[in-house]
Amino acid sequence: MARVTEDEVRAALAGVTGVQEGMVSGLVVKDGNVGFALEVAPDRGAAMEPVRKAAEAAVAALSGVLSVTAVLTAHRGAGQAPAAKAGGHDHGHDHGHAHPAPRGGGGERPASDPIPGVAAIVAVASGKGGVGKSTTAVNIALALASLGQKVALLDADIYGPSVPRLLALKGKPETDGRMLWPKEAFGIKAMSIGLLIEEDQPMVWRGPMVQSALEQMLRQVTWGEIDIMIVDMPPGTGDAQLTLTQRTPLSGAVIVSTPQDLSLIDARKGLNMFRKVDVPIFGIVENMSYFVCPHCGGRTDVFAHGGARLEAGKLGVPFLGEIPLDIAIRETSDGGNPIVASEPDGAHAESYRNIARAILDQLAAPRRAMPKFVVE
Ligand code: ADP
Repeated sequence: MARVTEDEVRAALAGVTGVQEGMVSGLVVKDGNVGFALEVAPDRGAAMEPVRKAAEAAVAALSGVLSVTAVLTAHRGAGQAPAAKAGGHDHGHDHGHAHPAPRGGGGERPASDPIPGVAAIVAVASGKGGVGKSTTAVNIALALASLGQKVALLDADIYGPSVPRLLALKGKPETDGRMLWPKEAFGIKAMSIGLLIEEDQPMVWRGPMVQSALEQMLRQVTWGEIDIMIVDMPPGTGDAQLTLTQRTPLSGAVIVSTPQDLSLIDARKGLNMFRKVDVPIFGIVENMSYFVCPHCGGRTDVFAHGGARLEAGKLGVPFLGEIPLDIAIRETSDGGNPIVASEPDGAHAESYRNIARAILDQLAAPRRAMPKFVVE
């Protein structure tokens, strides 16, 4: 069967009552899987839900379509004159749609609006996948909560959202058609891109589409009063990551790395990405730093242990701590009961709490790069 084309999808959408020109953004058509966003004015979210459903149905009815994911995104200015397009390219999927332009340019960090009620946002990032970024992000979030912070965890890992598994979250978030309610687990609030899409739906969200969904997760969730929000970033340093970094009002970033050299090269790329957009780097965490034998409790340095600490020193960024490779960390994470919650008095929980304390110290520290205002 011939696969559906982008033009066929656009033609079908043009025929849906309520879908106006310029409303479709981030259309992705890949091997019969279709994803797109409908941009609506923030106060029209609930009213537009039937239109979203109709749009999804119209595309699903096309021959050669295997799956359709349509989301509503509320952009400030949707339905008004489009602003200039943001810098950076977008894999060619953004056909004439305009995002609000960032202020500044040329590597300068665009001012992203703060999220009401959220005092600080910290990204947990890695130069590549599989280094334990999500496990670290979840346990840091729980460690911060155990230190008395009001914590939110936002899973923005579009390539492999694992927070639903790590926190055993089930079901779609509740919504009134406009706002989403975050899930709660172990005393923290959480939202994951994995909760917004069907599990059996292939991940075809890329580029601007992903960006819209992420912005929705940031700004259309009833987070409430939050001291610190941890963002589990997508691994890597591509366009999607850079845009997310630019468009999220980040207070700082934590880089997770394993001790192997290769991932340190990747970690360096991660550092550079945040530097490029002037997000302070709070430091590096070395994960799977050494091996703890489950039988004898003995310690083995599987990889060249200490690489991240050395590297952090060379790069002039703080070293936040090391977490060993321990089967207990994997089992508790994959079982939806992370080690900081399941063994709060254990050594690992204490290591994560030390990292959490270091992050809080960084948040409290005055930033050299910040302009000083002197009132005379
Ligand atoms: P990433 O987010 O970087 O892709 P994950 O956090 O999903 O990585 O971790 C990948 C796998 O490694 C998971 O099965 C996780 O349980 C396991 N893992 C992560 N950190 C550790 C650790 N310190 N000890 C043992 N297993 C770990």
